[in-house]
Amino acid sequence: MIVVMKQGSTQAQVAHVIKLVQEMGLKEHVIVGTERTVVAVIGNDRFKDRTALETVDGVDKVVPILAPYKMASKEVKKERSLVPLMLPDTARVGGTKVQVIAGPCSVESEKQLLEIAHAVKEAGATGLRGGAFKPRTSPYAFQGMGEKGLEILAKAREETGLAVVTEVMAVDQVALVAKYADVLQVGARNMQNFNLLNAVGEQPKPVLLKRGLSATLDEFLLAAEYIMSRGNHNVMLCERGIRTYEEYVRNTLALAAVPELHRVSHLPVVIDPSQGTGKSYLVDSMCRAAVAAGADALIIEVHNDPEHALTDGAQSVTCGQFAEMMKAMRRIAAAVDREA
Ligand code: PEP
Ligand code: MN
Repeated sequence: MIVVMKQGSTQAQVAHVIKLVQEMGLKEHVIVGTERTVVAVIGNDRFKDRTALETVDGVDKVVPILAPYKMASKEVKKERSLVPLMLPDTARVGGTKVQVIAGPCSVESEKQLLEIAHAVKEAGATGLRGGAFKPRTSPYAFQGMGEKGLEILAKAREETGLAVVTEVMAVDQVALVAKYADVLQVGARNMQNFNLLNAVGEQPKPVLLKRGLSATLDEFLLAAEYIMSRGNHNVMLCERGIRTYEEYVRNTLALAAVPELHRVSHLPVVIDPSQGTGKSYLVDSMCRAAVAAGADALIIEVHNDPEHALTDGAQSVTCGQFAEMMKAMRRIAAAVDREA
């Protein structure tokens, strides 16, 4: 970090800053400019609390140089990480192939899920999504089928070979969900549930971490860091749209997060155009854009009867639409030297 002193700061104030820097176990390099003095801090200050210096007399601002996260950062690991969708390694997210995870927002019945699973498999998906535990805004809305839903997902995996991606909402559900799922999804509303992040970090299944509705990318990467710091390095970052003032979409899908996350992190980036728009007719275009922007995978809500879906019908594409979208995505993928 760099400590920028105020114009007219005194020598005693600079000396005090130097003392604080040394107390942190770091070294200082003082640069006296014509207008201001700057104290460059030398050493690994990633985990030091820079706010401690921000309010010291004579300090104007403290500028961080290192990212606050480490394991998730490209500074520590240059090559892109490949995260398996299913253990032992089958389809991997982060390579040339754009992996597609598709399925309903929620598991509603065996018939519903199996029909959708076969359809998305046929169209080329490699993962199957479907919530058994649903984080709903209203306590009166459908909350998911729970363990019965997980059993149905496991049956769909048996029949299709698709990797099962499903949400875990609480620490006390981790063991149960991990028993059935191939990938544990941590939902947007739980991105800063630090106990849950630790718990999924302590089990071996890969994790799909969704960006919080109002989280910055640094906060998002620090959430990934929680999981990784507990030993689980198989983390995928999922951009699913953020909350803005805009109302024509449910969420504003921040596609620039794809190249930006790739710039600062080695973790694969997944795009969710369904929560990301809230409108089924926008999903196709966002899928194409996501592939063009370099997304490593997509997670898409597909339903056999969107009009009667128990959750998120408005943003779910039909099985037929999904098959057409896959064809378009393959063309885009080929144009950017990828496969889908
Ligand atoms: C979902 O995938 O259906 C979901 C609830 O996602 P998010 O946590 O991104 O809202
Ligand atoms: Mn949904």
